Amino acid sequence: MDHLSLSPGSDAQALGQRSRNAVWHPCTRLRPDDDAVPLAIVRGVGPWLHDADGRRYFDATSSWWVNLFGHANPRINAALASQLETLEHVMLAGCTHAPAVELAERLSELTGGALGNVFYASDGASAVEIALKMSFHYWRNTGLPAKREFVCLRHGYHGETVGALAVTDVEVFRDAYDPLIRRAHVVMSPDARQAAPGESAADVAARALAELETLLRERAGQIAALIVEPLVQGAAGMAMYDPSYLDGARALCDRYRIHLIADEIAVGCGRTGTFFAWEQSRAGEAPLPAHLWPDFLCLSKGISGGYLPLSLVLSRPEIQRAFVADELARSFLHSHSYTGNPLACRAALATLDLFAQDDVLARNRERAHWL
Ligand SMILES: *Cc1c(COP(=O)(O)O)cnc(C)c1O
Repeated sequence: MDHLSLSPGSDAQALGQRSRNAVWHPCTRLRPDDDAVPLAIVRGVGPWLHDADGRRYFDATSSWWVNLFGHANPRINAALASQLETLEHVMLAGCTHAPAVELAERLSELTGGALGNVFYASDGASAVEIALKMSFHYWRNTGLPAKREFVCLRHGYHGETVGALAVTDVEVFRDAYDPLIRRAHVVMSPDARQAAPGESAADVAARALAELETLLRERAGQIAALIVEPLVQGAAGMAMYDPSYLDGARALCDRYRIHLIADEIAVGCGRTGTFFAWEQSRAGEAPLPAHLWPDFLCLSKGISGGYLPLSLVLSRPEIQRAFVADELARSFLHSHSYTGNPLACRAALATLDLFAQDDVLARNRERAHWL
């Protein structure tokens, strides 16, 4: 985008300039001598974005990895239009609505019922913080309040709010705010690019697991949870690793009584070939036995098809049971104003419909083979 030349005085140039003045753009350097303007997009169609001057661009980043089935997808549009006619929003404390219920039921079904009790939020970082808070609170409710530390992988990325930065090991996002953060333990990533000559991806995963076990052996009494991006560490530069790491991490978390949080915000929703990346643990054994799923699974990005901000946390049934109590202090008193927004849930249901009706995952396997 830096090298794009817009004709001076064009509509795209004018809107971009107004945006520079009025909008503080995310993840963007404000260089003193730079007069580059952001790309002014007026329309999206399928994989294409059209600017105010009538040029089109191929959205190869899927707008930060959120878009699954193209811009202005007619089927998601139709679902949203019908939802708009009935209910645009209602708070989810004390109220409920069909889209939130159906989405939770269908996602739980996709885990074979291993996970459920869907907790809704609006962005990925919030989903991560919800999983961290729930894990800590679970241990507190079960008489283990000392378990309040977290473990993440080297170069792991889990979002940029202050809580999520604690488990994010990407210097460019974290370093300026380091004094504000309660940093997690950072352990070796199973990133297969670290293989020494003659070493396989599975060997690297085994080394990473050994390092994780050393930490857990020492500090399991203080550790609440391990958080990982299953199979691919996106912000680390699409660092891929051997699925045996997931099996090993699950076994270690069981042995040392630590929760396992799968951050599938980027890798979920079919991005790695299965609906959840975690399904590829145990050499893709299907259905995966319930005890081999993570304790928490976070989704966002693709879940609404790239339409509306939506995130959610699935968890094991026994997690929620630890919160069943009369005392307020044992309850999970976390909320966001737009929790479980009906429009966002409806977009997500339309996205799940597309996966099912078009047999997307099977067709992607053919395409992957061809590619
Ligand atoms: C994008 C992302 C997040 C944060 O989601 P936001 O909606 O940007 O807050 C967290 N974890 C992973 C793996 C992500 O890719």
